[in-house]
Amino acid sequence: MLKTDTRQANWRRTNPGKYEAHLAMQRVVKAGEVAKDTCEVCGRASVDAHHDQYDEPLKVRWLCRRHHARLHHYGEDMFPIKGSL
Ligand SMILES: [Zn+2]
Ligand SMILES: [Zn+2]
Repeated sequence: MLKTDTRQANWRRTNPGKYEAHLAMQRVVKAGEVAKDTCEVCGRASVDAHHDQYDEPLKVRWLCRRHHARLHHYGEDMFPIKGSL
């Protein structure tokens, strides 16, 4: 328990923008202003919000844990952003 808290606190300190973006996203999802989507790669219903740009906290991509991890591991080129142009 304590270990997790400390790790989260460290992450928050080193990624203040990311933390704010996650909080902002959590708020709008909770308020029902933004609906969670399915994984854009495999269509799974259990998803995380992924931020391409943390200065745009409400612009997210929905990815299941597996594809989210994969995207972070291999980089953004792995799944080109749909309709970004
Ligand atoms: Zn997926
Ligand atoms: Zn992500």
